[in-house]
Amino acid sequence: MEWENSKQLYEEACRWIPGGVNSPVRSARAVGMHPIFIKEAGGCRLVDEDGNTYIDYVGSWGPLIVGHSHPCVVEAVRKAAERGTSYGIPTRLETSMAQKVVEMVPSMEMVRMVSSGTEATMSAIRLARGYTGRKKIIKFNGCYHGHGDCLLVQSGSGVATLGIPGSPGIPEEIVRHTLSLPYNHLDGVRDVMERLGSEVAAIIVEPVAANMGVVPPRPGFLEGLRQLCDAHGAVLIFDEVITGFRLAAGGAQERFGVLPDVTCLGKIIGGGLPVGAYGGKREIMLKMAPAGDVYQAGTLSGNPLAMSAGLATLELLSQGGVYDALEEKGRYLAEGLSGAAKAAEVPMVMHRVGSLGCGFFTNEPVVDFESALKSNTRAYAVFFQEMLKEGVYLAPSQFEAFFVSLAHEKSHLDRTVDAAARALRRVKEELY
Ligand SMILES: *Cc1c(COP(=O)(O)O)cnc(C)c1O
Repeated sequence: MEWENSKQLYEEACRWIPGGVNSPVRSARAVGMHPIFIKEAGGCRLVDEDGNTYIDYVGSWGPLIVGHSHPCVVEAVRKAAERGTSYGIPTRLETSMAQKVVEMVPSMEMVRMVSSGTEATMSAIRLARGYTGRKKIIKFNGCYHGHGDCLLVQSGSGVATLGIPGSPGIPEEIVRHTLSLPYNHLDGVRDVMERLGSEVAAIIVEPVAANMGVVPPRPGFLEGLRQLCDAHGAVLIFDEVITGFRLAAGGAQERFGVLPDVTCLGKIIGGGLPVGAYGGKREIMLKMAPAGDVYQAGTLSGNPLAMSAGLATLELLSQGGVYDALEEKGRYLAEGLSGAAKAAEVPMVMHRVGSLGCGFFTNEPVVDFESALKSNTRAYAVFFQEMLKEGVYLAPSQFEAFFVSLAHEKSHLDRTVDAAARALRRVKEELY
């Protein structure tokens, strides 16, 4: 397999774009490569600029749960574009979207649309601080909540991939009120809440952590956070930017039966266009301007193209049997990959929740960021490259998830597992 065109395009991109990419996670440095450049996609298939095709398990990092360029989504965007791409004046589409979200997500009574997941979490934090009049926030190591200043502490995803703890450019004073604690360790949170609970505005958590690889919550962890927030008057924020509309129609909160006060959404809600949203209890949401005094705004918020793509996607997800199908596809793939690792005698801990999963190259349990970091990232790099040669596109980092979509059919999953069997044998030869 050749990547000559991608290589040239990357070199050209590096002259004009820092690192050649518009988001660090697209860099393939961690797996010892340059990124491949994509020309087009359809269903679960990607085509690169050298004409190679791949079965895609990134799906634009989660949004494309119905597959690339689904006809219903494309048609909705096309029709919307013909009526105008943006007005900056309200449309009925925004109300339809808000109603749809409230109908699907159990804890949400009102919702505000923004243009990215980062905006959603930043705004949710501001809202929680405005609502409680408190300053401190608690987050968890290895959870990524976008790149807002006060949340870019011990965050996973690209920051973990590059091996940097935080980021220059964020003054100490800004993160002074951010406490980052180990994921899945309720005792640690309880201790902090007992000491500082009356100063804590919010606890923000990925209900299934999916930016340090995939780490599900231990039984009782989310319930415990709910109780601690209730006991100390803090706002519980679920960052469901990945898990929302993926783990169930109502996201992780439906799947695990724990309801937050405020939910952040992104990715799937935009159907592949730039969208985020946050919402929750009416009483809290009415603090937002112009109903209340906490300010947040956006020129392109609720953009008609984005609302149309998102609504079309949510409609497709509202059809019966969709989540059972996703569950089954996820299970089939995860079991196939696990089996392939076992057969090749390569240590792998497989985590999966619904259609979201990750195989860690380690044989020790992965329960938090610390244990995730013990994975053999060199083994992952070899695996990634071998899978790429086999025509399977995985995230170019151990600390990301695989995303299965409705467009992945059994034949694609079988081809993936066959490819993994060969790739893992080569991982074994090179590293174990
Ligand atoms: C992707 C992600 C974000 C940030 O969303 P952007 O649209 O990239 O700004 C926030 N939280 C989680 C859990 C995410 O996975």
